Amino acid sequence: MNNIGVLMTCPMSEYLENQLENRFNLFKLWNHSSPKSDFLKTHSSSIKAVVGNTKIGADANMIDSLPNLEIVASYSVGLDKIDLGKCKEKGIKVTNTPDVLTDDVADLGIGLALAVLRKICVCDRFVRSGNWINGDFELASKFSGKSVGIVGLGRIGSAIAKRAEAFNCSISYHSRSKKPNTNYKYYSNIVDLAADCQILFVACALTEETHHIVNRKAIDALGPKGILINIGRGAHVDEPELVSALLEGRLGGAGLDVYENEPNIPEQLFSFENIVLVPHVGSNTEETSKAMADLVTSNLEAHFKGKPLLTPVL
Ligand code: NAP
Repeated sequence: MNNIGVLMTCPMSEYLENQLENRFNLFKLWNHSSPKSDFLKTHSSSIKAVVGNTKIGADANMIDSLPNLEIVASYSVGLDKIDLGKCKEKGIKVTNTPDVLTDDVADLGIGLALAVLRKICVCDRFVRSGNWINGDFELASKFSGKSVGIVGLGRIGSAIAKRAEAFNCSISYHSRSKKPNTNYKYYSNIVDLAADCQILFVACALTEETHHIVNRKAIDALGPKGILINIGRGAHVDEPELVSALLEGRLGGAGLDVYENEPNIPEQLFSFENIVLVPHVGSNTEETSKAMADLVTSNLEAHFKGKPLLTPVL
């Protein structure tokens, strides 16, 4: 397989680079100083696979410029950076990395909710600043027993629900269809879900339908005591509306792993004490990044050996 051209779109994992280099003819798009279009013109015919991630996937331009492309393997479970319609039209296979990252992302979601409600980051700054000497820290809010709403009861949403149940939280959810195998309360729209819960977790796929699904109406339904946790994609949330709701005290707080224009974040967010911000690290643990890399590699090996894909999307 050493002569098969595999294109990585951006740095994602050194381990993955090594695994791919050991098996394929690996091209690293970011190492080519010439304009990307020149690079693609020179090497396009030898590239049969693209490995992308949440930053750079495979858009229509890239797919069109690779005439022998057979497979797009994403080092992510989200598919929003891949033109799936174009892949389908051209018969290009697509794989992603489901399941192996579910626990990490759900853990972080719960961690963010705990951090916001129990003011863990503010507490940390309080202790480090030496202010404890002047008096005790203010009271925080309880997490256990709160009502939790989940947008997207898929793999990650279900893992969040399972964890929240262990904290005696009541669970309700919104997705396109009611799930037959759960007793959680179903809402056919996000506004009613937000109005009826205290903590709203966003864990759905990013599509045209879910772009800005957390809009002003949903934020106002969640209300001044409500907490928003987003571990899905930044574009699920209308960020200017989030900022104005926080400024005007119409939302109780937020925990965010993802942002609409990463790594650029609206600077106004930095001033709020009732939010916790982390830099899109949902699945970023040593263990999970290795498992994701192994899955990408195994999918590519399976494809080029003519075997069934381990985690096919298309
Ligand atoms: P999944 O199992 O496919 O779940 C996606 C869920 O989205 C499904 O339950 C689906 O429910 C729901 N959904 C789709 N369209 C919807 C709509 N229009 N309205 C409401 N719900 C909708 O995927 P997963 O493995 O749980 O991953 C979920 C997402 O998490 C990924 O797409 C990715 O963007 C994000 N993610 C983030 C990180 C991170 O680092 N922060 C890491 C991994 C994944 P129905 O089909 O019933 O509508």
